[in-house]
Amino acid sequence: METNKNIWPMGVFTSVGSGLGLSMEVLRRLEIPTIHLHAPRKTERTPAHAASLVDRLRSMNVEVTCVFAGFAGESYADIPTVKATVGLVPLQTRAERAAELKEIIDFAAQLKVSAVGLHLGFLPHEASTAGYNQLVEVTRDLCDYALRQGQAIHLETGQEPAGVLLNFLGAVERQNLFVNFDPANMILYGCGEPLEALAAIGPHVRSVHCKDAKWSDRPGETWGTEVPLGEGDVDFSRFLQILANIGYSGPLTIEREIPQEPERQLIEVGRSVELLDQLKAHYQPSSH
Ligand code: MG
Repeated sequence: METNKNIWPMGVFTSVGSGLGLSMEVLRRLEIPTIHLHAPRKTERTPAHAASLVDRLRSMNVEVTCVFAGFAGESYADIPTVKATVGLVPLQTRAERAAELKEIIDFAAQLKVSAVGLHLGFLPHEASTAGYNQLVEVTRDLCDYALRQGQAIHLETGQEPAGVLLNFLGAVERQNLFVNFDPANMILYGCGEPLEALAAIGPHVRSVHCKDAKWSDRPGETWGTEVPLGEGDVDFSRFLQILANIGYSGPLTIEREIPQEPERQLIEVGRSVELLDQLKAHYQPSSH
């Protein structure tokens, strides 16, 4: 069956220069048309760098669909360290990171990219928790800043159960706040069955990471294990069926957290592309 190239275009998570995600060489050789781009470090977030990056990506026929923010001092060493260091939740770094996120939003605007994604960190589970309202306020401020440039903010899933994320979206109440759904994160962090979560969060999902993982024997306490797509506990047939049901037609962005060794990436990601292509042919929603 012929697939429609405008629905569920293939994508990969990558970066320029920082060694995260898939290398540009792999991207070129696999002819991947879209990427999520990890934001470069501050010295490279200039209009001149943005212009040269736009030219380079245009020459490769690659579209950036989301810029992902990351911050100095974040560590994914283990779950308690993530809680203490990642995103806007840690208080001691919140103000400087919020300011930096605005710079990343500006950089994304220079790239003419209309979405910025991030891990906000471990959201408090109850609205009554001390500091919850301040986190809501800072997120509102960032959404309002992004909206003035016509941009959306995508919160990456995984560090909280679906219900907690839904409550937070409701509390922030901004029309340009959405979700980047990563099914593997739900498993890695032990935050609930990913496909049930996807169905629940569905209307808010505006981008996805196609990543796979195996559950930890102590979910929520120790990491699960990230594995090549198709070898883990995410049922990608059902994942695509649910994406079709919720009306998601955006990129399927493969994320694989392995070193930038082109030959290994080429083999592993090549297999993931093949698998997703087969599934797309079965489950792709019809074009309108
Ligand atoms: Mg992800």
